[in-house]
Parts: sequence; structure tokens; C-alpha cells
Amino acid sequence: MKDLILGGLTSEKGTRAIEVNGVTIGGKDIILIGGPCAVESSIQMSQSADTVKKAGGKILRGGVFKPRTSPYSFQGLGKEGLNYLVQAAKEQGLLCVTEVIDAPSLELVVDEIDIIQIGARNMQNFELLKLAGKINKPIILKRGLSATIEEWLLAAEYILSAGNSQVILCERGIRTYEPSTRNTLDLSAVGVAKELSHLPIIVDPSHAAGRRDLIASLSKAALAAGADGLLIEMHPNPAEAVSDGPQSLHPEEFIQLARELDVVAESVNRVFSCGGQEEGDTLESLRAKIDRIDQTIIERLATRMKIVSKVADQKRLDRVKDINREKEVIQRLVNLGNDLKLPSELVKMIYPLIFEFSVQSQIKRKLVEEKERDLPNVCPLVSK
Ligand code: PEP
Ligand code: MN
Repeated sequence: MKDLILGGLTSEKGTRAIEVNGVTIGGKDIILIGGPCAVESSIQMSQSADTVKKAGGKILRGGVFKPRTSPYSFQGLGKEGLNYLVQAAKEQGLLCVTEVIDAPSLELVVDEIDIIQIGARNMQNFELLKLAGKINKPIILKRGLSATIEEWLLAAEYILSAGNSQVILCERGIRTYEPSTRNTLDLSAVGVAKELSHLPIIVDPSHAAGRRDLIASLSKAALAAGADGLLIEMHPNPAEAVSDGPQSLHPEEFIQLARELDVVAESVNRVFSCGGQEEGDTLESLRAKIDRIDQTIIERLATRMKIVSKVADQKRLDRVKDINREKEVIQRLVNLGNDLKLPSELVKMIYPLIFEFSVQSQIKRKLVEEKERDLPNVCPLVSK
């Protein structure tokens, strides 16, 4: 990619986050976008917004201009649908995103919508890309059905070079020879695009899989692969959806998936907080969460103790206890606890105990070591 020139594609490391009306995309937080494929009615959008909110999603999606493969399929409600989308998002304090397909649709939505989507079928609609480059709104740019990563990034470059630096890439599956899924989700594209650009990348498992049974696992895999967010189709009643029903999650499935994302996010040093916890959480689910955390605490403690043993090998017996280091470490942890609103008394109670156990185990280890050294060599031919 020698001839890439502008801001999107750089050797600069890391993702440059995009801020939009209080939501950051490409920061530490994973962003969840959800909603139906197409806006169908006011009630459908209110119910969808309610579910997105409960799941901790920040952005409501819904197509009002549908670029359908067949001209006989539902083409979208246009302006009427836009009003339903905007209104429903407002009711729940969510941002909203919708797809544009040409200059008139862009003009119609640009002042109403927080984020504009350019779909897979328009990824190389260069005139549309140039127009998107002239507006001051973030653009979700989906990867084309058969586009290489280079073609996708060059499409992004059209928007960037026209003056709009707020591009969010979206991997949504590519066409392969495999017929068991609608497309093939190319998760390596996340890493490759991150290596080549500083743009945030989200993953849409819905259009990739085309079937709802794979959405949860693909979503988790996407986060593990480094995606900055997920765009997932969800419908209050998928069986009745006018488009993409088979790949749309039921509201309760969407919320359940969101509940499972936090641990995956955490494992790759990211954060996802499922919303609506007061209403949705049961005693059982809260206890399950606590159990998972307790397990992590014990596992980490065991790892700490193993390292403590190795440290013993580097110390002399009379230097095992280092009171200055102990004080220093506890103070650092108290400060950290304060930042996280953890009572300092708790840290001050737990840590001296951990230190005491560590020191005792180191002393034991040293004594065993010394004893072994002093033991007479019973078999002079075998060296210890
Ligand atoms: C969509 O998000 O509704 C859509 C049509 O997706 P894609 O452009 O990825 O097919
Ligand atoms: Mn769709």
C-alpha cells in the first residue's frame, strides 16, 4: 500500500478514538449498537430502543433506506421511518445510526442522525464517499461484499481525504465459497486494518452469519480479536420482520448476550457495562457474577504466591522481610483503591495478611533450602 497518503492510513500505532455526542468509539469502552435491519413502525422502534438501553447499548440502528438485493424487497420507510428512529433513540437517551444510499438520502438524514452508515453495497460508491467526506458526522463504512482490506481502506481514504476524519470501519463478512453462512466473518481483518490504520473498527456478526444461532459466539470472538464495538441486528419480533428476520436476535437474546460481553471485554483489557442492571439482574445472575470474580481473585492470588516463591530464591534469609517495600506497595494499592472507590480499610486489612503469608512461605522455602545444603552427602558419588 505504497500510495496511501492521508490521515486514515498511517504508521501511527493505536486507534484514534472518535467522540460523538458523549459516546467514544475506539476508546477503552466497547460500544454496542443494536436495532432492527429496517425501521417498520413507531412501536417497533420504541421497543427496540428499550431493549438496546437495557442491554447497555449506546446506539440504536434502523434502516430507513434499504439497498435490497432484489428491487421487489421492502425498500424502507424513508422520512417517516427516520422520525420513528430519531424519536425512539431520544426516548431512551441513545444515539442513532442509519444507512444512506445516495446524495438525497444523505441530505435528508444528515441533520437528524448522529452517525451515518455507508453499507457494503455502496462501499465503492465514490461520489457518495466524497459527499460523506464533506459532512461533520461520523461515518460507519462497511466492508464491501467482496472487497479486499486494501479496497476498504482506500474507500475510507476517500472520506478522509475529502475532509472528514471520523470514519469507523465495519467488518460485516465477505463473500466466500462457503454456503452455510450468509457471508464469512473475516476476523483477521480487524487486526490487519488496525495495523494499517488508526480508525476504530466495529464488527457486524449479523450480516456475516445471516443466522441468529451464531451471533453470540461471533460477537465474543470479535471482541477477543480487538474490535471496538459490535453492530447487531435485533427485532422485537423477528418472525415478523420485513427484512433479515432470521439473523435478528430476540430482545431477550440481545440482553443475554450483552450480559456475557463484560468478561470477554475484560480479558482483552477493555470494558463493557451491560445497562439496566437494576431491572434485569436477578439474585442468581448477580451471585454468578460474584462467583466469577471470586474465582479470578483466587486464581490471581495463587499466581502471586508462585511468583513470591521465585522471589525467595533471589533473597538472603535475613532479607526476606522488606518492611519499606511492604509499606510502599500497600500505599500504592490504597491509592488505587481510592480511585476505584474501594474503602482503604479493606486494602489495609487484606494486604498485610497477604504480605505476612508471602514472607512466611519465603522463610519456609529458605529454611528448607539451607537444610538441604547442610545435609551430609550420603552418597559421595552423587552430587546434589
Ligand atoms: C445493514 O446494516 O442493514 C446492511 C444492509 O448491511 P450491509 O451493508 O453490511 O449488507
Ligand atoms: Mn440487515
